[in-house]
Amino acid sequence: MSVKQKHIAILGSTGSIGTQALEVIRAHPKDFVVEVLTANGNADLLIKQAIEFKPNCVVIADEKKYQTVKDALGKHDIKVFAGNKSIEQVVQMESIDIVLTAIVGYAGLASTISAIKAKKQIALANKETLVVAGDLVTSLAKENGVNIYPIDSEHSAIFQCMAGEWQNPIEKIYLTASGGPFRGKDKNFLASVKKEQALKHPNWEMGAKITIDSATLMNKGLEVIEAKWLFHLKPEQIEVIVHPQSIIHSVVQFKDGSMKAQMGLPDMRLPIQYALSFPNRLTSDFKRFNFLDYPNLSFEKPDTETFRCLSLGFEAMNKGGNAACVLNAANEIAVTAFLTDKISFLKISEVIEKTMEKVSFIQKPSYEDYVKSDAEARKIATTLY
Ligand code: NDP
Repeated sequence: MSVKQKHIAILGSTGSIGTQALEVIRAHPKDFVVEVLTANGNADLLIKQAIEFKPNCVVIADEKKYQTVKDALGKHDIKVFAGNKSIEQVVQMESIDIVLTAIVGYAGLASTISAIKAKKQIALANKETLVVAGDLVTSLAKENGVNIYPIDSEHSAIFQCMAGEWQNPIEKIYLTASGGPFRGKDKNFLASVKKEQALKHPNWEMGAKITIDSATLMNKGLEVIEAKWLFHLKPEQIEVIVHPQSIIHSVVQFKDGSMKAQMGLPDMRLPIQYALSFPNRLTSDFKRFNFLDYPNLSFEKPDTETFRCLSLGFEAMNKGGNAACVLNAANEIAVTAFLTDKISFLKISEVIEKTMEKVSFIQKPSYEDYVKSDAEARKIATTLY
């Protein structure tokens, strides 16, 4: 059976997820066509990708790099644009079927909303979009008949477990967490850790921001909120379990007590490929799991006392309104400060917690309220170190 080629826009094509998405597309030229590639400032890689994949257009967010990209692609039939507003515009192009959102952080929100309004299907890596404005984004998706296919491995696992089960209510989900590079460590140890240590994730190679989020367990806090919106769950239906080997990517428990898990070696190309090819599965040469290499899969309770960011994620989810938007903004500021040696590792959760106490709470935020809350939280967080 021949399946229609899907036309893809990759936002953040030069990042960890973006480059792996291009690997998937490179392996399946009959299934996918690249329509749009975007980057922030990495002009060299964007140019290289554009020459290989020949998209309809590219966007470089950093306007100072426009001329470099334009000159390099001059003799190719590829349109070149610059600036974040251009990203919001090109995602609406008629030829696009799916927009893969792999920009990091709050910066990915506006273009995702723009794509949803243009009725584009979304393959979502940019979890911050749902953390910041899950209510608004999922309502817009529903209104516009848009499906959001998760790329985060845990959410992809739940999505895969739900195939054929949509009429069966979820009793509970277990989001698995590797525990990051500092699993089992106490506050004394964490007080002096350096960014080089925090950037060494035991199981996954990812962009810098999410790698630090994994070390603080904020990544799991963000994922809890993401799961609530993606699968319409109540906070009490979501549990986090530490599973250091990252083989079981997450688990769904149904009302008869049956539990379904999705497993495999940690490799983001698999959830990326599934999000793009759904409802079909495509072949892959990804390394296969061998049970005998992993005789001991283990599970632990997360240490939310030491890794305060996970509790803050749950608190923000329970509070609702703009609380998660504030949490996200403060986290982005604190992570950047840590990565530029301005604050210590333990200070990250402190900055976030204090910001959450200070920003005014809005129960039912509009898009403009989210934009204001994000700005206010960033301003306050910056004064806290
Ligand atoms: P990276 O930092 O590796 O890549 C980010 C991408 O976004 C790059 O292409 C970057 O461009 C672009 N970008 C950054 N800032 C802006 C901006 N202000 N405007 C426009 N483009 C921008 O991140 P990851 O690929 O690791 O993560 C992307 C998203 O996917 C995050 O939300 C993360 O949480 C999520 N995710 C990532 C996973 C992973 O394995 N990496 C796993 C699960 C989820 P440039 O290269 O030019 O700077």
